[in-house]
Order: sequence, then structure tokens, then C-alpha cells
Amino acid sequence: MLFLSLDGVDGVGKSTQLALLVDWLRTRQLEVVVCRDPGSTRLGEALRQIVLQGHDTPIHRIAEMLVYMAARAQLVEEVIRPALAKGKTVVCDRFLLANVVYQGYAGGLDVEQLWSIGEVATGGLHPDLTLVLDLDVPAAQRRLGREPDRMEAQGSGFLERVREGFLIESRLNHERIVVVSAAGDIEYVQQSIRAVVERRLTGRAEVAP
Ligand code: ADP
Ligand code: MG
Repeated sequence: MLFLSLDGVDGVGKSTQLALLVDWLRTRQLEVVVCRDPGSTRLGEALRQIVLQGHDTPIHRIAEMLVYMAARAQLVEEVIRPALAKGKTVVCDRFLLANVVYQGYAGGLDVEQLWSIGEVATGGLHPDLTLVLDLDVPAAQRRLGREPDRMEAQGSGFLERVREGFLIESRLNHERIVVVSAAGDIEYVQQSIRAVVERRLTGRAEVAP
């Protein structure tokens, strides 16, 4: 009954690490539901296509932000809340924090306003723990062997602000947002992630009745 999310600039290794983390959680007899934000519902996947691949669809930045919020609202109601209600562990590739960082810190929208619109979209559901994978932007881009998407096409100044936004938010909320260096090899980064999650799982067990 733990809600985890992974975040960070594209190319840091979120998808890679998420798969390994889920394998490990399953060996601990946890029932794990994996999802991605935006996505993992029919509506969310359709909206994801528009915001991440639809270079030919003009979207005003407020509309774009609300599309992410809409996808997330559906994800929470259709996937995450039902899974948590059944006692499952949820691991999500990105969540509201990404919206705050990309559209707010990097995109210039008001950060406080994004958090409050996010409250509406999620009905106040936040991950228990968000792991932010941190890597310098050029290294993250070198790991990406593909064409830049809508976000990346905005240039690396934008991505530097994204990285900084993640770091600032983790300082403001270090209980729930933990930064993990993504600079090591895949195995090393995974060990760092497991150590953080392990502490959280154990901490919970200690306070349980
Ligand atoms: P993200 O989901 O954050 O965009 P991916 O998991 O898709 O990142 O990884 C991007 C690319 O970098 C993939 O080709 C992946 O194999 C590679 N990669 C992931 N982690 C590492 C690492 N620690 N060292 C080197 N390459 C990595
Ligand atoms: Mg990914």
C-alpha cells in the first residue's frame, strides 16, 4: 500500500530503474501495479500522444498543462486509487511533480498554482515517496538515442531549469522527494534506489501496530 514515483529529466534512466525496482518489490511478495503519467488509461494514452508526440498540434501552454492534469486525474481514479485500496503497491513513471517542474520551474507557469491545480486533479493523492534521478543534462542527453520530443526540443536551457526545479522541490519536501544520483552504472543506481525504498518500507513496518 505504498505509492512510489520516479522522476527526473528524460534520459536519466527512469524506465530502466523502474523495471528493476518493480522486479525487486515483487520478490518481496508485494503486489505491484506499474503505471506512467501521462498514460496507463485509454484517455491518458491518447492525451500522451498529443502532448509528447503531436509536434503538429498547436497547444497553448495553459492548455498543455491542463492536458497533463486531465490525464493524471483519470490515472488516479482509474488505476492508482483502486490499486491502493486493494493493498497493492503502485510504482509510477513520473507524476504531478514533473508537471510542476516542466511547466512551472522551466516553463514559467506559477509553481504554487500548479500544485493547487494538481490537488484538484489528484484529489489530494500524493506519492508516499518520489525518487528523483539526477544527472547533468548533457549526460542525460547522451543516453538518449532518439530525436528530441516536444519538451526536449525547447533546448537545454529549459532542461537545466527542469533539473534545478527537481532539486529545489526535493529541498522543500525532502521527506517525500528524495534525490538519487543517476551518474553510476545501472546496477549501482539501482542499489541506491533500493536502499532508499528499503528504508521507507522498514520505517513503515516499525510504526505499524
Ligand atoms: P528515461 O526513462 O529516464 O528517459 P531510460 O531508462 O529510457 O531513461 O534510459 C535512457 C537510455 O540510457 C537507455 O538507452 C538506457 O539503456 C540508458 N541507461 C539507463 N541507465 C543508464 C546508466 N546508469 N548508465 C548508462 N546508460 C544508462
Ligand atoms: Mg522513460
